[in-house]
Amino acid sequence: MSNADLIARDLKVVWHPCTQMKDTEAMPPVPIRRGEGVWLEDFDGNRYIDAVSSWWVNIFGHANPAINDRIKTQLDTLEHVMLAGFSHEPAVELAERLVDLTPAGLTRAFYADNGSAAVEVALKMSFHYWRNTGHGEKTRFINMGNSYHGETLGALAVGDVDLYKKTYEPLLLKPLTARSPDCYQREPGVSWEEHSRAVFADMEALLAEHAHETCAVIVEPLLQCAGHMRMYHPVYLELLREACDRYGVHLIADEIAVGFGRTGTLFACEQAGERGISPDFMCLSKGLTAGYLPLSITMTTDDIYAAFYDDYANLNAFLHSHSYTGNPLACAAALATLDEFERRDQIAVNRQLAQHMADAVAPLAEHPNVGEVRQTGMVLAIEMVADKASGTPFDWRERRGIRVYQHALSQGALLRPLGDVIYFMPPYVITPEQIEHLGKVAAQGIERAVST
Ligand SMILES: *Cc1c(COP(=O)(O)O)cnc(C)c1O
Repeated sequence: MSNADLIARDLKVVWHPCTQMKDTEAMPPVPIRRGEGVWLEDFDGNRYIDAVSSWWVNIFGHANPAINDRIKTQLDTLEHVMLAGFSHEPAVELAERLVDLTPAGLTRAFYADNGSAAVEVALKMSFHYWRNTGHGEKTRFINMGNSYHGETLGALAVGDVDLYKKTYEPLLLKPLTARSPDCYQREPGVSWEEHSRAVFADMEALLAEHAHETCAVIVEPLLQCAGHMRMYHPVYLELLREACDRYGVHLIADEIAVGFGRTGTLFACEQAGERGISPDFMCLSKGLTAGYLPLSITMTTDDIYAAFYDDYANLNAFLHSHSYTGNPLACAAALATLDEFERRDQIAVNRQLAQHMADAVAPLAEHPNVGEVRQTGMVLAIEMVADKASGTPFDWRERRGIRVYQHALSQGALLRPLGDVIYFMPPYVITPEQIEHLGKVAAQGIERAVST
């Protein structure tokens, strides 16, 4: 079978996610035959470095032997059992280990099977907590401008990326939106910390006015990934935690994309203040299984848990479920993932890799069509602009990011931009040489994309 064979079959029957299918006439999907480490290989034998971790999920490479083995063993033991009324060791052990690893106070793990579902769980639990504790008047959520929390209607509603959300607006609940602390928006000469601190005034004002009707504030800690990899200073999280306590509003930290080492610490919340902050809910998915299997967890506190713990007839239970909740194979993949973090001392290794990433693109910062090169830990983003001095973006209809994507594919790299933002978010098994290659490919791709 060749690339062409599989593409022909694909285009007859598959409807691809997040894709205008007419685009496939000029840009057919890349058919992948196998993966190994950072490499993906197509049916014609071309190889690509998976520089975006297959949409931010892969952290220890494709076909990682240790993770493979753990899943195979689990497969021969127990593939699945429902988690309502039943239990299994992988779900228990994973919950135990995450209680230890996540910020203090997060003592309960509620399982689901994808990131959007974990967000839905957090939103419903927060609302339901207030209802169970006599505050049925709390029905709203505060979110952040430019945020992203998934595609199901509840998760989409608390996001703020027009491209995905606008069409469905009539179907969605209406959050109160605070200005994003995105530091790309800061004035010249203003530091990340000063900017994020100043922008917090907007959140404070919303809380002051609406706390009485608000269940929770939901944020992506430090890094708004789908919102064009925009970044902010941890001081914002510190201020937010303090304000949520003061106003009696929950804090939901959506670490679906940033958790598991992406920002330089195991969880982004650890970077706020001197000892980190503890949210009331922490949503985890993506890197949780190192990109192997769909799984998500909403971590929460004793206080939240206790508000649901009651005689059945009082009807205060949280009756949410999904068919594949806590799937044992996925839990096994997650346990192997946590083992890999320990065995490789990965957070320390990432500090070196992050420095290599910075070095590989350093020359690009001076490029006349690069508005900013920014980095938080293992995520590095390059903002392409029409004019550097004014920061004027290119007309989005020109779709210049796609030219970088196509150039990168021809050079053996999968760099799938977000609009005109080119970014690296690679598996942690990438080598310094491979990072250097990505830097070169990105620079050449940007050169091509901005000319004419
Ligand atoms: C990807 C993502 C989600 C949604 O996860 P899915 O598994 O795609 O539903 C939610 N929040 C953030 C921050 C994400 O990056």
